[in-house]
Amino acid sequence: MAALMMRGSLSVRCSPSFGARSWAFANSASAQSVSVPTGKSLPEQVKIVEVGPRDGLQNEKTVVPTEVKIELINMLSEAGLPVIEATSFVSPKWVPQMADQEEVMRGIQRRLGVRYPVLTPNLKGFQAALNAGAEEVAVFGAASELFSKKNINCSVEESLQRFEEVVRAAKAANVTVRGYVSCVLGCPYEGQVSPDKVAQVAKRLYSMGCYEVSLGDTIGVGTPGSMRAMLSAVSSQVPLGALAVHCHDTYGQALANILTALQMGVSVVDSSVAGLGGCPYAQGASGNVATEDVVYMLHGLGIHTGVDLTRVMDAGAFICRSLNRRTNSKVAQASCKL
Ligand SMILES: [Zn+2]
Repeated sequence: MAALMMRGSLSVRCSPSFGARSWAFANSASAQSVSVPTGKSLPEQVKIVEVGPRDGLQNEKTVVPTEVKIELINMLSEAGLPVIEATSFVSPKWVPQMADQEEVMRGIQRRLGVRYPVLTPNLKGFQAALNAGAEEVAVFGAASELFSKKNINCSVEESLQRFEEVVRAAKAANVTVRGYVSCVLGCPYEGQVSPDKVAQVAKRLYSMGCYEVSLGDTIGVGTPGSMRAMLSAVSSQVPLGALAVHCHDTYGQALANILTALQMGVSVVDSSVAGLGGCPYAQGASGNVATEDVVYMLHGLGIHTGVDLTRVMDAGAFICRSLNRRTNSKVAQASCKL
């Protein structure tokens, strides 16, 4: 999941103490401490929330022309994706890639039944989103105090109070709100994050009126072990039907983590076409899990998504050509689309 203020975060790199060895140790410890029944049947249907146009592009170095963003969103909706996070109503001072948010919202062809949530960090952003015709917004909290401080310059509690204002205004305007919790399986500043802290923040977001809470492994250090421990804690506070997972593939664990979440009863998965969006905390590492790879796995499991994989790959090829970069999707690479 992308941080709000990417500019400030770009200078952050993995510290030696944040290496693979420490995570392997931490995760094996947490995996031993929980016991969750296995063998639960997989969901018949999974809703994929496409985050490429916002979370993905926000973390790309190249600023994409507005018409390319609009075409990408249209291609993704034609591919059958039911939810496409379209843009972000944050200050262009902090996120210059999203400075054209109003033009994007006005330019896209809204397909019937498709939702186009936009990120709104505060009341000002919410009002701008509303004026641009947004029918769904998202608020972005963190399970880590230091991450919250460094990214949105306030404590977790202060951010939640700010979101309460947004949710109240959204309810009054008949706009639905999705909540994000970032750093659910680790933080670039604090290291390990307690599953109970994640559960507390997720519960607050759900209780204030977020219809869905997306749990983000922002830096992609989670494993099936830590995912299981975290979901076990969160699902004791928030109904599984209201939870989504948002996995990054920094350590190559994203699909395994998603499968673990599905086995535990989660049926909403965030992903990004072509795996758009690098990881600002680990140079050269891949960021969001690729939509193509998630769809390929889900269809292989016999799970319905309503998504046409070939069309998603076309959208991925289109945006990669525009960015002049290679796709991060293994499926697209293997299919020689690029
Ligand atoms: Zn992400």
